[in-house]
Order: sequence, then structure tokens, then C-alpha cells
Amino acid sequence: MEILFLGTGAAEGWPGVYCQCDYCQQAWTLGGKNIRTRSSVQIDGKYKFDLPPDTYHHVLTHNLSLADIRHLIVTHCHEDHFYGQELGMRGEPFAHISDDQGLDVYGDKWVKEMGDWEKLAQGGIHFHEVEAGHSYQVGEARLFPFQANHFENKGALIYVFQKDGLSLLYGNDTGFFFEEVWNGLRDFKLDVVLLDCTHGRDDHWDNHMGISAILQTRERMLKMHIASQDTIFVATHFSHNGGLLHHELEERLNPQGFLVAHDGMRLVVNGTR
Ligand SMILES: [Zn+2]
Ligand SMILES: [Zn+2]
Ligand SMILES: [Zn+2]
Repeated sequence: MEILFLGTGAAEGWPGVYCQCDYCQQAWTLGGKNIRTRSSVQIDGKYKFDLPPDTYHHVLTHNLSLADIRHLIVTHCHEDHFYGQELGMRGEPFAHISDDQGLDVYGDKWVKEMGDWEKLAQGGIHFHEVEAGHSYQVGEARLFPFQANHFENKGALIYVFQKDGLSLLYGNDTGFFFEEVWNGLRDFKLDVVLLDCTHGRDDHWDNHMGISAILQTRERMLKMHIASQDTIFVATHFSHNGGLLHHELEERLNPQGFLVAHDGMRLVVNGTR
């Protein structure tokens, strides 16, 4: 399984789109891994989590062939994760795709409300509403949605994505998991765990997490044998308000068994682990 991190930032990006804070200034100065666009991940060139407003930038920066994505899995309706208008660019006359096998989109009922799916279906884009507590076949993968601890009035989902004998947990946006989620996860053996670390050094448990909450998440996964010492833990979805630049995040998280994601990071996980 090849996991390509396209974006690893929170809603406003880092540097924040309008921000003049010290952490954004430092990101401007240091550049490199400190520049974070809105979060998305591509898997095996064919599956993608979320469609942020920086998608076109991702196409240009990482030489993506977006037409080859067959399955788009959406976590929630916040526009830094689902910029629906971009889907309209996939149909004629905006895109001429040879041998088009279409695009399947998966999301909850609030994501469904955001798109004109009838119109998009004419361009080969089909929406599939998914719900926590069920599982779905997504191409060659199996998808298990769980309710995220993210916002009150509408929903958000985190997902377990299983393919080629590997299980990945896509864990943003979310705070510390609800008890029902821990219960639902108890029979999984996770190979890769991606977790929301928006708040960085701040102790934060609902809506998003900081370092303390993701460390606690790892501890509990190990204790429940959902994860092992071989499981790859990755922190992502960072904000300038978390107050830690890339090297500072690595100083704190690497010794605790976490990789720190950056835009363009490529992770290849062997199926024979
Ligand atoms: Zn977000
Ligand atoms: Zn800032
Ligand atoms: Zn969100």
C-alpha cells in the first residue's frame, strides 16, 4: 500500500491564508515541511481521502493524475475537506477523459446535501451514502466508517480502510474517540493509524486533538491490541495555533512512536508485515 500525503494542514493552511502570527512567519522563513496545505491522502493512485480546496495545487505539485482516482472517500462536509465544486470540473467540457470508468464518492448524509449528484451522475460521478456501524466494498478495498468526535450539529466520519491484507485508520478530523468507536474497533488489527494533531502542544480532547490526546489514543490501541509495536502511527492535520513547527513536532513525537506527516510524504507499507 502506497500512501501519499497531499496536504497535512488544518482549515486555514499553514501559513494561514490571512495570518500574521509568529508561527506562520516562521513557516514562511523555514519553508519546506513547514508549509502545509489542506489535508488529503491518496492511496495506490486510485483511492483518495477528501477533496480539499487545494486539490488543484496538489495536482500541480505532485504530478497527480486525478482522473485515475476511482474512489473518493469524504470524511465530512467542512469545506477544507470537501470542496464540492471541483467535482464539476471532472465532466465535459472541462475534462476529456479517455476510457473513463467513472468516480465513486462516499460520504455521510451531510456530504450528500452538498452536491448536485444528479447532475454529476451524468459525468460518471456516483455518490454512495455511508453510515457508521456498516461496512462497504470500495473497489478492491473494504471501508468501515465510524462516528468522529468532531462537531455537534452535523456528523463527521473516521474510517478503517482495508486493502491487500492491510488496515489503515484515517483519523481526522476528530477528537478523542467516542466509547462506541473504541468498541467498534476492538476486533481490528491496524497496520497504519493517521491521527488528527491540530492542537499540537495544547491539551485538547474534543473536535480535534493535540499531542497528549494522540499519545493516549496510541496507548489505548496498544492496550486493546488493536495496534502493536509494528503499527505505523502518523500525526497529521496541523495548525499554526498548535505552536510547533515540523522539527519541534518530530522532537516530541518521534520518540513516542509517531511519524510526523508533511505535504508530499510517501509511505509504503508492505503487505507481508
Ligand atoms: Zn479539517
Ligand atoms: Zn498563523
Ligand atoms: Zn472539520
